[in-house]
Amino acid sequence: MLIDQFDRVHDYLRISLTDKCNLRCNYCNPVDLPKGYFSNINKMSLEEIDVIAGVFVEHGVKKIRLTGGEPLIRKDAKDIILRLSKYPVELAITTNGVFVHEFIETFQQAGLRSVNVSLDSLIPEKNLAISGRDEYARVTQNIKLLIKNNFHVKVNTVIIKGINEDDITGFIEWTKHEPLHIRFIEFMPFDGNKWSNEKVFSHNEMLNLISEKYDFVKLPNDKHDTAKKYFIPGHNGTFAIISSMSQPFCSGCNRMRLTTDGKMKNCLFSNSEVDILGALRKGLDIVPLIKQCVWEKKESLGGQFDTIYKDLDASKISNRSMINIGG
Ligand code: SAM
Repeated sequence: MLIDQFDRVHDYLRISLTDKCNLRCNYCNPVDLPKGYFSNINKMSLEEIDVIAGVFVEHGVKKIRLTGGEPLIRKDAKDIILRLSKYPVELAITTNGVFVHEFIETFQQAGLRSVNVSLDSLIPEKNLAISGRDEYARVTQNIKLLIKNNFHVKVNTVIIKGINEDDITGFIEWTKHEPLHIRFIEFMPFDGNKWSNEKVFSHNEMLNLISEKYDFVKLPNDKHDTAKKYFIPGHNGTFAIISSMSQPFCSGCNRMRLTTDGKMKNCLFSNSEVDILGALRKGLDIVPLIKQCVWEKKESLGGQFDTIYKDLDASKISNRSMINIGG
């Protein structure tokens, strides 16, 4: 069992398959990094992912989510998904949805039922402005394809004040007839993403805006849930808010991350990393490293800031960019 000093059991691993992406979402991609920053990374091979994942599973991991970068642009993504399907875990993926139509059968073969798709606006032009690529039609078609094939589909929408809070009710309208689970994510600070506290559209602001149009009911939360879930009577789907900035949910955290270059992070915001891949390549036992990394997890937010995000100076946070961590 992987346990930290605060008695939190860690049974959920997020593996980044690549730090590259076919989209250029301005809140995720660093804006000021030198050319070639991503290209020389020494990433885990399929076999190494398999071995490392196996060690985590032996120590109690019950859920593995594949992410990135964009996990589906990795050439051996299908092989990795199929390879990991041998483990007795819930396998899930977070994707921008552009290549999902090429993976439906692989997901089905692997028993992967839960797909999170990121989409930040229901207005194609605005989506292009945020993501830098004109993929709105393809992504929405693929969301429909996933629903048609009975996948559990969550749509991740990062809300940035002044940019897309006016999309919130449109997304909720979508849940009326479709069994979709929309998750509005508060904008978080990472290297190079030009975060400022004025750009955070908080959980409470979202609920106020939604209440102008809808009556909603709060759904019960599981201890490990990052999202606060709500239901509108008569709707087929639900909506939820991931309030990492205004109401963090660290006390029930069960998550660990593996970057594409095989570094373990015990928190999205931690500034320390443990080189699991390097140790594996030297033939060392990675179990003590994994246990130590979990044990040293800080009580909240990587120990880098407290919950008063309005006072936060993002330039004082030291971390990778989101695309480089694996969201
Ligand atoms: N390429 C995949 C995708 O688009 O979903 C997976 C990687 S992406 C980094 C994972 C998730 O992180 C996406 O839902 C994205 O919207 C979210 N994300 C990225 N940067 C963020 C930020 N600064 N604040 C909040 N969420 C962010």
